[in-house]
Amino acid sequence: MKITILNFWLMPAMLVFVAASACTGGTVGTQGSQPRTVVDVPAFSADSAYAYVAAQVAFGPRVPGSEAHRLCADYLSATLTRMGAAVTVQKADVEVFDGQTVPMYNVIGSFRPEKRNRIMLCSHWDSRPFADHDSDHARRDAPIDGANDGASGVGVLLEVARHLGTVPAQLGVDIIFFDVEDYGLPDHRDVGYKPDTWCLGSQYWGRHPHAPGYEARYGILLDMVGAADAVFCRELYSKQTAPHVVDAVWDAAARLGYGSLFVRSDGGSITDDHVYVNRLRGFPCIDIIHYEPHSSTGFCRTWHTQDDRLENISRPTLQAVGRTVMEVIYNER
Ligand SMILES: [Zn+2]
Repeated sequence: MKITILNFWLMPAMLVFVAASACTGGTVGTQGSQPRTVVDVPAFSADSAYAYVAAQVAFGPRVPGSEAHRLCADYLSATLTRMGAAVTVQKADVEVFDGQTVPMYNVIGSFRPEKRNRIMLCSHWDSRPFADHDSDHARRDAPIDGANDGASGVGVLLEVARHLGTVPAQLGVDIIFFDVEDYGLPDHRDVGYKPDTWCLGSQYWGRHPHAPGYEARYGILLDMVGAADAVFCRELYSKQTAPHVVDAVWDAAARLGYGSLFVRSDGGSITDDHVYVNRLRGFPCIDIIHYEPHSSTGFCRTWHTQDDRLENISRPTLQAVGRTVMEVIYNER
């Protein structure tokens, strides 16, 4: 994913959204009139989520076209199937920034596929093929483990899926693992600019959804949700397109005692899978992403470096994110 400069034309619209959302606070769901917690939410296990992260990292970097990538796609679809989801794997060849074609596998697990009202949860599962922000230039051309940038969001969602298979939510839930998110333009080589080189899996899905005319009430994207020092600001495209969902998620986190992670301050405008979901499918989707306004990159210390390893994954952070997501989706009616 990539940070972009906030366009000034967004500003008046954002002010309107802030004013509108101030009238609807205090409920769990996103429908405005719903009560607070009314269901017993199954207990999210950070140990289990961590094990799902570790299982992905154990394949090695899941760089599109590699053996690890193919094997991990099989692992994700087999795991969702075992949990009771109806699984679709979208396979296609997509062209990356340098003209090379790589295989893409979007892995989609649908719970209660018969339900018309649905929630979409998503995360990218591929690993970046280079470490273009590593301080050691000699390490920049090797792929990264992507324990946080990729595997963490998928690990949280696999743990959510495990519960959905045994304790169904009221709405249908689709869990989508997007591929080829992180093959965007490298910052350590001068290759010239090209638009839309990130998020190739979600761009493909946006144009070819797994179900005809697919839409969800809303979507939640998880990206880099596993660092010990994580902080989740309110990402600006999310605030612009889905302020009610941002409010519902951040309010739920605050009630659960995770207000120090889900902070009230604004994040940057981040080009991530949720942008293409919004743009191509037309339903609101937010991004829960670790954003650090005071770092030089805008992201966490390990972002696009060889330090993005399993040893830097924190169970308490996985717990905070997973528990919050479950609180929101199980209270949706
Ligand atoms: Zn990345």
